[in-house]
Amino acid sequence: MKIGVLGAGQLGRMMAISGYPLNHQFGFSGNANNEPAALLGHMFVHEDNADNIESLAAFADVITYESENTNIEAVREINKNIPVYPGEISLHTTQHRGREKALFDKLNVPCARYCMVNTLEDLKLAVKKIGLPAILKTATEGYDGKGQFLIDNPDQIQQAFTSMNSVELILEGFVNFKRELSLIAVRDKHNNHKYYPLVDNTHHQGILRLTIAPAQDIDAKVQETAEKYMQTLLDAMDHVGILTIEFFETENGLVVNEMAPRVHNSGHWSINGANTSQFENHIRAISGMPLGDTNPTHKVSAMINIVSEIGQIDLVLNMPNAHLHLYDKTERKDRKLGHINITANSLRELENSIQQLQSFLPQ
Ligand code: AMP
Repeated sequence: MKIGVLGAGQLGRMMAISGYPLNHQFGFSGNANNEPAALLGHMFVHEDNADNIESLAAFADVITYESENTNIEAVREINKNIPVYPGEISLHTTQHRGREKALFDKLNVPCARYCMVNTLEDLKLAVKKIGLPAILKTATEGYDGKGQFLIDNPDQIQQAFTSMNSVELILEGFVNFKRELSLIAVRDKHNNHKYYPLVDNTHHQGILRLTIAPAQDIDAKVQETAEKYMQTLLDAMDHVGILTIEFFETENGLVVNEMAPRVHNSGHWSINGANTSQFENHIRAISGMPLGDTNPTHKVSAMINIVSEIGQIDLVLNMPNAHLHLYDKTERKDRKLGHINITANSLRELENSIQQLQSFLPQ
């Protein structure tokens, strides 16, 4: 099949790497010829051709995307002629934190208390209702903690509002969490579902730096609950492809933070640590192939993001249980340039390996 990807970043690159052995071909729409996926398929570049998305659609049998910030009008147009997966409902819902939370409420999936905010007056009322601390976020287009303001005391309300440049906002109650977990699942067109184990994510300054898979000390009931929430959401959106849910683990159970209708950074471990990677399962789902087994191949795995600079990659290349994945990107502060997957047969072995790769992690 010819698979068209809206976007040409590292997620598209890894989709193609997993899809070629299945005999698929790839095309990407992007902004420039030097993007991470550019050399992995036909590139339809905006600079050369303002109709690059139409050209991609003419090339492809099925279309997918890399980001929830994908232009929904373009998706609607394409969808008149060829299928786009995940579908319009998934994209429309996850593009807007308010719509996403309304769906959580409707399906009884627990999330932080929230209020939509358009004016300073709205924000004052929202703070009264929700209490402090609370986090003011943009309703759309936030990622890696960008477009957020933590309000600790009422004196900061004005400043928080002004800093957001009058876009549509949402105020969320602060969730006291023990850990941040995520669940990745895949659903095909025939309503088959498969779930990866919950993983444990550590962020630094809003950027994911380390994932441990499976998350340790997770009661089977917690995994079951996470899968139940996931299944409800997958079915409600008639989702096809990978869906990711980010959770806060609290004293009172799981609370959903947000979801993404796509392969996710916290699933990169699955390339070396699961029977079928998230990328391959996404491609299988959207191309109508049977879903692959999602079980881990090792007792425990880790993923370390390579951020800002490439660093000492020889360290990685000399370790038998570490796998390097670079995205063909130039170094820039806070940019995700690649990741390292580590597989291990015990937690102790994993910890030793992470220790050896400490230079890739923030202090
Ligand atoms: P987000 O972009 O919504 O994923 O937020 C980025 C990070 O901010 C999350 O990974 C959390 O560490 C933190 N965060 C976001 N929302 C909340 C919340 N309601 N309560 C506590 N921490 C939060």
